[in-house]
Amino acid sequence: TETRTTAAHGGAIGMHGIKKWFGSFQAVNDVTLDIRPNEFFTLLGPSGCGKTTLLRMIAGFELPTEGQVLLDGTDISRLLPNQRPVNTVFQNYALFPHLTVAENIGFGLKMLGKPKAEIDGVVADMLKLVHLEGRGDNPVTQLSGGQQQRVALARALAPRPKVLLLDEPLSALDLKLRKSMQMELKRLQLETGITFVFVTHDQEEALTMSDRIAVMSTGTVRQVGSPWEIYDRPAERFVADFIGETNFLEADVVSVADGKARVRLSSGAEISATFPASLTPAGKVTIVVRPEHAQAGAPSPAALLRGIVHEIVYLGTDTHLHVRLDDGKSFMVRQQNARSGHCGFSKGDPIGIGFSDDVAQILRD
Ligand code: ATP
Repeated sequence: TETRTTAAHGGAIGMHGIKKWFGSFQAVNDVTLDIRPNEFFTLLGPSGCGKTTLLRMIAGFELPTEGQVLLDGTDISRLLPNQRPVNTVFQNYALFPHLTVAENIGFGLKMLGKPKAEIDGVVADMLKLVHLEGRGDNPVTQLSGGQQQRVALARALAPRPKVLLLDEPLSALDLKLRKSMQMELKRLQLETGITFVFVTHDQEEALTMSDRIAVMSTGTVRQVGSPWEIYDRPAERFVADFIGETNFLEADVVSVADGKARVRLSSGAEISATFPASLTPAGKVTIVVRPEHAQAGAPSPAALLRGIVHEIVYLGTDTHLHVRLDDGKSFMVRQQNARSGHCGFSKGDPIGIGFSDDVAQILRD
C-alpha cells in the first residue's frame, strides 16, 4: 500500500540568468542552474558567495533583480513564498516553543486549513519518517538538539512540498550528531522523493550527501557536477583548492589527442592528463594531482618528480609527506598507514614521486 510519504514527487528548479543586487552590491552575478527532480542538490561555497541569496530566491523571500526562477517549467519568480510548493529548513530550526512536537509538525497544514483528521494522519506519518514515534505529545523544548532538528524537518516535509530548501541545517549540531543527521537527511530525501536543495560551506558534507554540487564563489557558479567530478575533475583552480587538499604543478603541453593531453613536468618527465571539455590546452598549464593519488618511492631517475621530505604528519589512518621538489615547489603525498605505523621515510630523505596517467587534470585559467 502506498503511504503519503512515498507519494510525493520532486520538482525541477530552473534558474535562468539570475542577478541580484542589494543596492549597489551585486550578490549574485548571472547564475543559470538546472536542478533535476528528486535530486539532492548542494550549493557549496565560502561565506558570502551568494548561496543563501540563491536559496531565498527559490523560496520567494528575495526577488531576483534580473532572471527567472522556474518550477517544473513554470515561471514562479514573482509568486509569494506561500504560493510556491517549496519549504525551507533553517539552521536555527525556529520551532514554536509553546507547542508540542505534533503541533509543530502540523502547524503548516493547520494554516492551510486542512481538516484535523488529515493533519493527524500526516503528523503520524511524519513522526514515523523522522523516527520520533511516541513523542508527538512532548513539548518540543524537552527534545535534544538533534531531535528538534528532526521536528523541523518533519514540519517542513508535512505539506509535501515539491522542493525542500535546507540552509545549513546541521551547522548548529556537534560533529557526531551532524554525521548521523547527514545520513538521516539522505534517507529522508530518498524516501520522500522530494527535491532537496542544500546550502553548506562544508565540502565534506557536500561530497557525502549530494547527487550533484554547484561550487560557488563571489556570486557565480564555478562548476556543477557529481561529487566525483567536483573532486577528481575540478575545472579550475578555485574549485580544486576549495575541495580537499591539492597539489598544483606547472607543465607544458606537448600534444593533444583523443581528449587527453601529453604534458611535460618541470622534472622533464612526460605524462598524460585529462582536461575540462570547454578547454583547448596549449602552452603553459596548471595541473592538479590529489595527494592520495601520488605514490612515494625511491628517488630513482624513473620517478616523475624528485625532492626531499621536509615534514611528516601522522594522521592515524594516513601519513602526509610534505616534499620540497627539486624545482623548489611543495608537493604533498598522502599514504595509508600500514600496521607498523612507520611511513618508511624520515625527514630529510630524498624521495621520488609517481602517479598514474589518469589522475592528473589540467585546469582552466
Ligand atoms: P554565508 O555562508 O555566510 O551565509 P552565503 O554564501 O550564503 O554566505 P549570502 O548570505 O547569500 O552568502 O550573501 C551574499 C552577499 O550578499 C554577502 O556579501 C552579503 O553580505 C550580501 N547580502 C545578503 N543579503 C543582503 C541584504 N539583505 N542586504 C545587503 N547585502 C546583503
